[in-house]
Amino acid sequence: MTERRPVRILPADTVRRIAAGEVIVRPAAVVKELIENALDAGAGSVKVELREGGRNLIRVTDDGTGMGREDVRLAVCHHATSKIDSIEDLRRVTSFGFRGEALASIAAVTRMVIETNTNPENPGTRLEIDGGEVRELREIARSRGTTVSAMALFYNLPVRRSFLKSDSYEFRLVLETVRAYAMAFPGVAFEVVANGQSVLTLSAAESVRERLLAMFGKRTVESMQELQAEAPSLSLRGCFSVPSQIKGFHDVQAVFFNRRPVRSSVVVRAVYQGYGPMVSGGSPSFVVFLETSPERLDVNIHPTKLEVRFADERFLFDFVAEAVRAGLGIARPVQLGSMAAESVRGFDFTESAASGFWQLHNSYVLAQVASGYVIVDQHAAHERVLFEELIADKRRALPQGLLFPVTVELSAEEFEAYERVADSLAAMGIETKVFSGRTVVVETVPAGSFMGKDEIRELFAEFVQVDSGQAVVEAGLARLIACKGAVKAGQRLTPAEMESLLNRLFACREPHFCPHGRPVVIRISLDDLERRFGRA
Ligand code: ADP
Ligand code: MG
Repeated sequence: MTERRPVRILPADTVRRIAAGEVIVRPAAVVKELIENALDAGAGSVKVELREGGRNLIRVTDDGTGMGREDVRLAVCHHATSKIDSIEDLRRVTSFGFRGEALASIAAVTRMVIETNTNPENPGTRLEIDGGEVRELREIARSRGTTVSAMALFYNLPVRRSFLKSDSYEFRLVLETVRAYAMAFPGVAFEVVANGQSVLTLSAAESVRERLLAMFGKRTVESMQELQAEAPSLSLRGCFSVPSQIKGFHDVQAVFFNRRPVRSSVVVRAVYQGYGPMVSGGSPSFVVFLETSPERLDVNIHPTKLEVRFADERFLFDFVAEAVRAGLGIARPVQLGSMAAESVRGFDFTESAASGFWQLHNSYVLAQVASGYVIVDQHAAHERVLFEELIADKRRALPQGLLFPVTVELSAEEFEAYERVADSLAAMGIETKVFSGRTVVVETVPAGSFMGKDEIRELFAEFVQVDSGQAVVEAGLARLIACKGAVKAGQRLTPAEMESLLNRLFACREPHFCPHGRPVVIRISLDDLERRFGRA
């Protein structure tokens, strides 16, 4: 039998090491953080050195602003940053960093040395720190810039260290990381040296295309076309395989949001959607740069900011797909849904109504249309949108990672129901894992839904009621998920959220009724108003 041990608070040092391990999982993660710091410091050149795939040494040298003596001491403390002052600034951040956690996290799990100088006419600083403990701080001579050396990664977390893969595998991930930043920052020179051998040298380039040429060669770059597209809140530029040049494999597929390399299945799927049947089994190469204002981009949903959330993912999908399609001159595919979309154009939002949305009692959205106005029940509308995205158009039922996965304990009966629908759930964007016994961990929810801990728990409790029989299960599940994931009455919406909701609603096949059959939209025409005011 397991012996019951008392609950106690872990020592600070242990907490620090565990927390650091969350973000710093492997050499590539260290390199990513150090490159971002170099770029944030305005570096014109960045050099990355590795030994044994980063296991024994990771060193990043830049010629950026450098740090003063006091700054270096502070920089390795938790929550120490020069990039934001308050939570307000978070909405505007344009730097890569802002949490002030990276150096502290790396310092906690390595033997670290920072050498830095802000002005070569004065002495610089060398700080040596071991597993988070400062060992030495002294003056050195150094040119402007910073060198951070992280040695013996995870020497104090032996299990983590043993999880590292082969040197060549870790090295490949590091190289991929450097190459991603190199694409986004063509004006910065990059060099990678592994075990004393230079493996990548990129001098500063004038343009993205010139940088891609240096990285991928003439053949690849000449088979790609440059595209640009603009919307008020979002712009795109990038290089894409010309349809006739698509091969069975791609040389590069990279997505950047405000110059951050990101993983975005929404954008990748949108690009494929744009190519349509033209890809026919092949794999296009593309490099996509998306730009938006920082407040429309949530970079705080993933510990290492690899995943980001755009304010309106549905719009993002359509915008990217259309940019690719139109830019490459690909014919528009015939869509089953287009009839429905055409027929609701009769609602005709006037151009000026683009910002003309009002929320009544935090529950109804009022919008002006050409013939009068409409009142939309926000919960019912969102239910309809989610329902159709889940059932009619599974391609768009995208999973969105939860930063903090939700754990649910199920009863025997609930667990049985869960097992029946687990695959359908995953297809609808809810990815789960059985943790142990009847404990299930929910890792993703459908993108664009408002599903929190409470809604997830309710959802699991209500599975039991979903009928068996595949088609019924799917519809019943979708209805349930839509209901749980939809914005509630009483929840305040921003104008952008109202706009997105109505755009998505009127792109539905059946925008007038919610999945339970209740009306979603009430329409009042100018004629009605005129009659009531005794004008007609
Ligand atoms: P963050 O980047 O989130 O601010 P970090 O822990 O990565 O947090 O860095 C802490 C601070 O140290 C930064 O805000 C910056 O002021 C300073 N710093 C880190 N690396 C460099 C560098 N290479 N050049 C200049 N300053 C740096
Ligand atoms: Mg940083």
